[in-house]
Amino acid sequence: MQKVNLLDLSPAELRAFLAGLGEPPYRADQIQDWLYRRGADSFVQMTNLPQDLRGKLPEVAGIGLLQVLSEQAAQDGTRKLLFALADGNSVETVVLPYEHGFSVCVSTQVGCRWKCGFCASGLQGFVRNLRPAEIMAQVLQVKNNLQSAGMALKSIVLMGTGEPLDNWDGTVAFLRAVRDPKLLAVSLRHVTLSTVGLPERIRALADFCWPVTLAVSLHAAEDALRDRIMPVNRKYPLPVLLAACDYYAEKTGRRITYEYIMLDNINDSQEHARKLSVLLRGRLCHVNLIALNTVRVLDCRPSDEAAVRRFADILVREKINTTVRRRLGSEIAAACGQLRNTFLA
Ligand code: SAH
Repeated sequence: MQKVNLLDLSPAELRAFLAGLGEPPYRADQIQDWLYRRGADSFVQMTNLPQDLRGKLPEVAGIGLLQVLSEQAAQDGTRKLLFALADGNSVETVVLPYEHGFSVCVSTQVGCRWKCGFCASGLQGFVRNLRPAEIMAQVLQVKNNLQSAGMALKSIVLMGTGEPLDNWDGTVAFLRAVRDPKLLAVSLRHVTLSTVGLPERIRALADFCWPVTLAVSLHAAEDALRDRIMPVNRKYPLPVLLAACDYYAEKTGRRITYEYIMLDNINDSQEHARKLSVLLRGRLCHVNLIALNTVRVLDCRPSDEAAVRRFADILVREKINTTVRRRLGSEIAAACGQLRNTFLA
């Protein structure tokens, strides 16, 4: 018999499961408290459960935490973990230190179908969606590690390998578990979801009216160029994408983050900066200029500092809210898909 993964269950589902074992509903609260707040990684630790239940549970259920296959730490405090999944696949998770606390960057798929020109995640193709429990396990494992060292997890970013909006059911179930007061109990204000830009799904997410920050991987301000570096654009060109983003901003009241990787001689000229400001003028948004983490097999280089400055200056002059993302973890290949690829190589 397949064991139930407890991280896959909502409070109501766990109550129903336990009722099947003849247990009262409040046992579900106790177990989920151990899993989501008290960092338990075994049933033995759940000392407020009756002994016979602690003995019976491991036969029918698993806690769903994942084994660490490899771990790397960078000088700046960024850590990257490679987790083993039960079916032999693996996923990457990154822990990022910020002034306001730690952030965890989780993967939502094994591989990715979109094949953006600068990204390592699509190189091995798409394998499968992660289950909500597999996304949650990445968060809990990092949270538990931080907690046992007296530190706290402040925010979650869905910016690891995969396209979260392609894994719609998995991502939505994960977000529900994040905000559930009986599960992770973290406000979705502390969550950022990054997407290649799938308009129908952006609109569907907007309809939840959740305060999730939407980050859109823009990387180009004209269709011809974006078609070239991001194949998704051939299906959903900029006007369609931006209309969906405007809808998201309107429904949620949250400003959109547009991510723009600075690619030497591809999208980093002053002309490109002016096109970007024209495109975004008057929109509730913020531009995040990102340094490229070089992926050895792909043919693009990061822009030099002067080009990034010039580009940012033009946006600021045009009154577009702009930040230049601090470069974290570049020496440990913390960009999407890079650790897994090193491991597979
Ligand atoms: N599929 C989603 C989320 C995963 S990628 C998306 O595309 O947004 C998260 C972010 O990292 C995206 O903005 C992506 O464009 C960026 N990224 C991918 N490869 C990168 C690289 N080599 N260097 C820097 N950023 C990269």
